Amino acid sequence: MWGMIATWRMALEGIQKVTPNLEAGGTAGDAIEGAIKEVEDFPYFKSVGYGGLPNEEMEVELDAAYLDGSTFDFGAVCALKQFANPISVARALSAYKVNNVLVGEGAAAFAKAHHFEEKDMLTDRAKIHFHNRLKDIEREQLTPYAGHDTVGMVGLDVAGDMVAGTSTSGLFMKKPGRVGDSPFIGSGLYVDSTIGGATATGLGEDLMKGVISYEIVRLMKEGLSPQKACEKAVSDLCERLKRARGEAGDISVVAMNAKGDFGAASNIENFSFVVATSTLAPTVFRVHPQSDGTMRHELATKEWLEAYLEERMKPLEVKE
Ligand code: ASP
Repeated sequence: MWGMIATWRMALEGIQKVTPNLEAGGTAGDAIEGAIKEVEDFPYFKSVGYGGLPNEEMEVELDAAYLDGSTFDFGAVCALKQFANPISVARALSAYKVNNVLVGEGAAAFAKAHHFEEKDMLTDRAKIHFHNRLKDIEREQLTPYAGHDTVGMVGLDVAGDMVAGTSTSGLFMKKPGRVGDSPFIGSGLYVDSTIGGATATGLGEDLMKGVISYEIVRLMKEGLSPQKACEKAVSDLCERLKRARGEAGDISVVAMNAKGDFGAASNIENFSFVVATSTLAPTVFRVHPQSDGTMRHELATKEWLEAYLEERMKPLEVKE
């Protein structure tokens, strides 16, 4: 048995690319790194890697993490600037015994010393998004922090090893130095090869309050299916936040257990995920939260998949 699950439709091409190797006995680590690199390299996804949306100083700062669920090797970078593939830097850091999480200049110095590809990650398209957002904020008094979508993945290989990874540009127009849940073990991702793994996307400030990826793995350890664990973790955190603070931000999660069963849940309407296993070709589902806290997974139609890419790749007008 092998499998992979990832947040958002944007992971599809990456998963399609790496699953033949996973099927042929490749490692979950190579699958996770390879698939996330695809997402990082695609310029039209504006929330991960190249083309990611900048902070309020118009600089792209990237967060990524890599966790091996068999050895617990863990590496992460926070607020990394000007490197093409933060996931690869995170994976390289996971090989060390200490200094596994590096931020800002320290992360960049490590990446440079290890000859990772340097790249100006701010695209002209991201500059237009930035400019347009400023105009919208001026006109409609919107909050700047809109637009996010972290890619998070969990992989299971035929040897039974599991790995999780994340990569994100974080929240659009965040403060320089702001870091969300994505590079933090337990919040953005967690995996234990004897149980399963989970990863999250949404408002990092709220996801961290529930250490939600760890919570999902813990629930799977107690015997819940990945689907039930995802549903319970999302609804418990959402309710708890509402009780404590009157509101809960976006919370979306995916999980896979050591048998390759999977689950996904969200408190928003437009969450999608990609899954592939020994018995299921890479497939995109849309998640619809139901009033009783369960989820309906709808197979994404060809039209929906095409519209998604078209929307992301359409020419941008510069707002006056
Ligand atoms: N969770 C990410 C963050 O807060 C954003 C996202 O998932 O899109 O940085």
